[in-house]
Amino acid sequence: MNYFSTRDHQHIVSAAQAIACGLAPDGGLFVPETLPEVSAQQLQALCGMTYQQRAVEIMRPFLSEFSDDELAHFTAAAYGSQFDDAAVAPLRRLDDTTAFLELWHGPTCAFKDMALQILPYLLTASLKKCGEQRQVCILVATSGDTGKAALQGFADVPGTKILVFYPYSGVSEIQRLQMVTQTGGNVAVSAVRGNFDDAQTGVKQIFGDKAFADALSQRGWFLSSANSINWGRLLPQIVYYFSAYCDAVNGGMIAMGDKLNFVVPTGNFGDILAGWYAKQMGLPAGKLVCASNANNVLTDFIRTGTYDKNRPFHTTASPSMDILVSSNLERLLYSLCGSDTEVAGYMQQLREQGRYTVSDALLAKIRETFAGGCCNDIQTREKIGRAWRDHRYLIDTHTAVAYHVLDEYRRETGDAAPAVVVSTASPFKFCDQVLRGIGGTADAFGPELIRRLTCETQIDAPAPLTGLDARPVRFGGCVDRTQMLHTVDEFLK
Ligand SMILES: *Cc1c(COP(=O)(O)O)cnc(C)c1O
Repeated sequence: MNYFSTRDHQHIVSAAQAIACGLAPDGGLFVPETLPEVSAQQLQALCGMTYQQRAVEIMRPFLSEFSDDELAHFTAAAYGSQFDDAAVAPLRRLDDTTAFLELWHGPTCAFKDMALQILPYLLTASLKKCGEQRQVCILVATSGDTGKAALQGFADVPGTKILVFYPYSGVSEIQRLQMVTQTGGNVAVSAVRGNFDDAQTGVKQIFGDKAFADALSQRGWFLSSANSINWGRLLPQIVYYFSAYCDAVNGGMIAMGDKLNFVVPTGNFGDILAGWYAKQMGLPAGKLVCASNANNVLTDFIRTGTYDKNRPFHTTASPSMDILVSSNLERLLYSLCGSDTEVAGYMQQLREQGRYTVSDALLAKIRETFAGGCCNDIQTREKIGRAWRDHRYLIDTHTAVAYHVLDEYRRETGDAAPAVVVSTASPFKFCDQVLRGIGGTADAFGPELIRRLTCETQIDAPAPLTGLDARPVRFGGCVDRTQMLHTVDEFLK
């Protein structure tokens, strides 16, 4: 399978090159030349497999340079005992037509583990296949969950270093503690003054600095990304849409071939885009409902066709979705219009004016599959309370946004098809808001809140989140955006 850039068809690379480079040299994103088809028969066969086997089957056609042995090894190692549920991504039924796909049973308790536990294997193997002699430094801008998941995935991986930047006041106390206490000889973490977009813009500028890249290269280093613009992040996420469908069939929620809707709490558009690719490959998915918080750029885009980031940035109860520029949307636009020049035009307008409007034809295609909705913090906490009181089911703030949007979607459209809410984080990562949602008091801080949530609900916190306050803080630094390059430079000395 070959890949090319969303902004230039002529730039063709292999899977290993796409994963090794992250971003295409023209600033576009790598996309597969074609999408492999999964037949009804193959889908049936997937139903009888483990998660690890499903992952090999789905990823194989995308990774032609990788052997079956490699893929079997990667999936076994990535989805092993560091997940606290043998199903890896279990589907929990709530009622006849609603289920939650729990993607937070990995070592950092958020869905980013689904991709970042396997990315180090894909990336180091890709670098070998490309004959790369230099060592790689992974640079990450995080709104909270990616940073920890990437640190955990790359800690002590030979031939790599990893440096994570997070917005100083844009992550939860638990997320911050998870990151600043990370162990490993090849890791570093720094806060950035500003919000997530500041951190992300800073990282993008460093990636775009040719002179700096040349200087690093002289010293035997090159920079790569673990953000969801990397194809190696997206591909593993396609797997769990197939897996959820199979589990819905196996559990009797749907019959094979029935439509199944998915509602996805969305930030950078990576998670939901994987669902789109799954559908294009033949998964009988129905609507993909894009759920946003008060940063509802995508809701407006799906409803009107205008993407406009010129608006206030809100810090919300679901910080991993506090994003105004959803990078992966570019891949969807490309997939639907098939024109590199059209996509390059939209992206230029976004850069220069902060907004663009897609053609009517393109909007109509988007709306065939996608619906959008949003939810404020009060509604988010209400939904957490409702799920707890009615079903004794505890959900985090991001998942609650999606659950709220599903209800609204069903009410507005009358579409009562069975639906899966993609559950992206353990409620114990966002104790403060979750406690308030279920009517408890949240007048404590960080780890004390974890103990209080356990006390209120009689549910044990996931092991990786207990005892965070007993671990030494290793990284207390905070820099301005303009100092980020210097931080990278020092880290690689
Ligand atoms: C990253 C994240 C999201 C958003 O996923 P995208 O792929 O960026 O759309 C939602 N919820 C949680 C908990 C996350 O960590």
